[in-house]
Amino acid sequence: MNFFGSAASSDGYPRDGAPEVAFLGRSNVGKSSLLNALAGVPGLARVSATPGRTRLVNFFRLAGGGWPDLYLVDLPGYGFARAPKAEREGWERLVTSYLLRRDPLALCVFLVDARHDPTEGDLTLRTWLDHHRLPYVVAATKADKLGRAEAARRRSGLEKSLGRNARAVLPVSARTGSGIDELQKTIRAAASAPDARN
Ligand code: GDP
Repeated sequence: MNFFGSAASSDGYPRDGAPEVAFLGRSNVGKSSLLNALAGVPGLARVSATPGRTRLVNFFRLAGGGWPDLYLVDLPGYGFARAPKAEREGWERLVTSYLLRRDPLALCVFLVDARHDPTEGDLTLRTWLDHHRLPYVVAATKADKLGRAEAARRRSGLEKSLGRNARAVLPVSARTGSGIDELQKTIRAAASAPDARN
């Protein structure tokens, strides 16, 4: 996996038309760690990334190693409650315009922390994704922090709250690697069927 670049607007997005899988979730949910685990390249998407990069759309190119050609797209995290309103609105515009207008977008990976109930921001995002009929899977991160019974209980809670229209709810752990294979499979399938949005 290579870092392709960061973009502050659509001018900086790749132009080769390869399918894209976008990662969304509140800050600190474990997005960078999951990107690294999926690509098998530690340290590529920086854990607790440099502040500047967290406000841009970051593209990582996957090819080879059993992957079809595709980009993993790291979208800015939401839920910075203390950020100034104008700044928050700027990120929102960037994220929503990417999600609504990006033709190569094949799938969204919606990250939530496996240990917690969905936040208001998570519920708003789910409603928005459903409204716009965007295809998504819910990835419940940091699943290693739960025992087996609690993990099963949390998963069925998520299936009812955020997962009703999701293609799947997948508990994952960047730390132990559990669930990563299954998420990779789901991503590969979506990237091989780029018309999946309709
Ligand atoms: P981001 O802000 O969403 O990109 O989140 P990061 O990947 O930077 O992770 C935020 C924090 O959660 C860091 O302290 C990570 O070490 C921790 N973390 C991320 N993934 C996991 C995981 O699978 N298991 C555990 N136990 N901790 C994790």
